[in-house]
Amino acid sequence: MIQELSYVGLASPRSEDWRDYGPNLLGAMLVADGPGGAVRLAVDDVDYRIEIHRAEADEFRYAGWGMANETDLHAYVDLLAGRGVDVHQGDQTLCREREVAELAWFSDPWGLRHELSWGKSATPNSFQPGRVMRGGFVTGDQGLGHVVFQVPDLVEANRFYADTLGFRLSDRIINDHFNIRFYHVNGRHHSLALAETPGHIGFNHLMLEYRHMDDLGRAIDLLARNDTEIVQTLGRHTNDLMTSVYIGSPSGLQIELGYGGLVVDDLSWVARTYRKPSYWGHRYTGNAMTKARGIIRSIA
Ligand code: FE
Repeated sequence: MIQELSYVGLASPRSEDWRDYGPNLLGAMLVADGPGGAVRLAVDDVDYRIEIHRAEADEFRYAGWGMANETDLHAYVDLLAGRGVDVHQGDQTLCREREVAELAWFSDPWGLRHELSWGKSATPNSFQPGRVMRGGFVTGDQGLGHVVFQVPDLVEANRFYADTLGFRLSDRIINDHFNIRFYHVNGRHHSLALAETPGHIGFNHLMLEYRHMDDLGRAIDLLARNDTEIVQTLGRHTNDLMTSVYIGSPSGLQIELGYGGLVVDDLSWVARTYRKPSYWGHRYTGNAMTKARGIIRSIA
């Protein structure tokens, strides 16, 4: 089974702006470019986990899911193939590019690309935060963070992500505005969430979690200097208990910067339904309401 969110890839006409935004605002480490001048960011001792390719338009390119080892990868690929998923083997060039030992990929029912891999390159004690930071990011056995996709049909999406892929439901938030399901693959409350937005598909946000509240506070202080907007004000979520702020990025994608997220025990976990997404805060700012929130496209 999938063990972690390992990496994510975007493409953007403003990929170069991430060279400043990544280290100076987020606190990530700018590392050597990928092929074609792609900007790469590390958030821990994995050599890179976030890649922004150059392109004409903002695009979600792929989410990389980490498997424990090659035995698990092979078994999982066989399982998915048996369930009718069209899984492709990644060639040597792709494995080298992603810095993994072995890779397979497939697309979800709306074309979002997911990659499965094991053996991603890492260098012990290599992570140096891009700006003053007290404690770095929560990763380790909780992976990179979480990704949230907008899907046109949550019933069909759940059938694919939960029933076919095996993402385990953490809970749901349902009210007049939201219909969202949250899924875990390790102790992190959710590595994936799916929000229903009929007629639309895309990448809403990437969440990165700081070890210390001070590093979240510093990010908020740095927003003005980096000319970055707050999309949702500081608040605390009901389900994963994350204290977080949602901010813009150079590429349409929102970044959720969090602190203090819940760790779940899968053996005893029971999925709940919540009405409110937040105990307090997480107010949309005036500006943010009028703009697209994420890398989203409409589908026929
Ligand atoms: Fe989130």
